[in-house]
Amino acid sequence: MTDKHMIQLRKSRAWLEIRLSALSFNAARLRSVLPEKCELMAVVKADAYGHGANSAARQLEFDGVKFFAVATLAEAVKLRKNHLNGDILIVGYTHPKEAGFLSDLRLTQLVVDGAYAGLLDESGHRIDVHIAVDTGMHRFGIDSARLDEIERVFWRKNLRVKGMATHLASSDSLLPGDVDFTKTQIDRFSKAVGELAGLGYDTGKLHVQASYGVFNYPELEFDYARAGIALYGALSHSGDVLAKPEMKPVLSMRALVAQVRDIGAGEAVSYGRTFTAAAPMKVATVSAGYADGVPRQMSGNGGQCIVHGKKVPILGRICMDLLMIDVTSVESVQAGDVVTIIGADGDEEIRCEDLAAASGTISNDILCRIGSRLPRIYC
Ligand SMILES: *Cc1c(COP(=O)(O)O)cnc(C)c1O
Repeated sequence: MTDKHMIQLRKSRAWLEIRLSALSFNAARLRSVLPEKCELMAVVKADAYGHGANSAARQLEFDGVKFFAVATLAEAVKLRKNHLNGDILIVGYTHPKEAGFLSDLRLTQLVVDGAYAGLLDESGHRIDVHIAVDTGMHRFGIDSARLDEIERVFWRKNLRVKGMATHLASSDSLLPGDVDFTKTQIDRFSKAVGELAGLGYDTGKLHVQASYGVFNYPELEFDYARAGIALYGALSHSGDVLAKPEMKPVLSMRALVAQVRDIGAGEAVSYGRTFTAAAPMKVATVSAGYADGVPRQMSGNGGQCIVHGKKVPILGRICMDLLMIDVTSVESVQAGDVVTIIGADGDEEIRCEDLAAASGTISNDILCRIGSRLPRIYC
């Protein structure tokens, strides 16, 4: 079978189109808004937010990115098996009994707290770590005021402290209270790092910002910015940001029309008959559903698709493998036509931010729940 046949086959029901050139573009724009000394750490957890971690990481490594972040050991193993050379930081929890993998695969582990550092140390494996500092989010890390506990991580003979990090809880908000809180977090981190340096410790590479830290605090001069959602060309939500680099969405989701029918006034569509036609209309059944990652919560909440370059509403409940759209106003829609669920078609575009808004969540959530059963076509 030729490549063309393969692509044809993969477009037989529903699929994702991933534009790696847009990923490269976004990485370059992000680097351009960061201070010169601050490098990009590409966050490729959750299969690169649904884009395919191996392909995304390979492209970014080609573009010069040297540090990657994942959430799990299995994600890191997959990247190493695919011959990714760069440094990989696991920002999630790894059970200390897996410590051997960390050293064998040259992985860097984020240290949750002093007790965790002790367990990693006792494994006897030599492990590179970054220390997580809790500056107020209360998720991961040693309290920034507990300098003694942080210091003891440096004394662990099997651990090599290569960096320190914190995570911002409200950097996506420009409300004064949230900005104050973010500044407090940054100050607490800088103070702890400064004191450790004063005591003679080499605190290594420092990193604080995720995507919104870059959008709203681009002037920060740390060593890395851990960018996830921005790399994929999306904002988490429609709220304002201070400095948004130009970004291109990387992913499109498309599916084929399976059937078209006419229904009369008073007839209902889909489970629960939540939508009833007010007048005669033309309905198309599209071959993608919530098992493919189309959020079911969009049902009845303003969810839309694009067909023949025109935006049309989703009708009634989204099913597991199918959804229905109103094509009354679109000329000659027939089975086999392409429907865009995320992406552009003609002059119209639906962004994952739109799906997020229509389903009460953020783009990150939409992207990383995109069904693994959708073939990805890289273009
Ligand atoms: C997921 C994650 C990121 C990336 O967040 P985005 O908002 O997608 O840029 C950065 N840092 C940590 C610790 C994370 O868990």
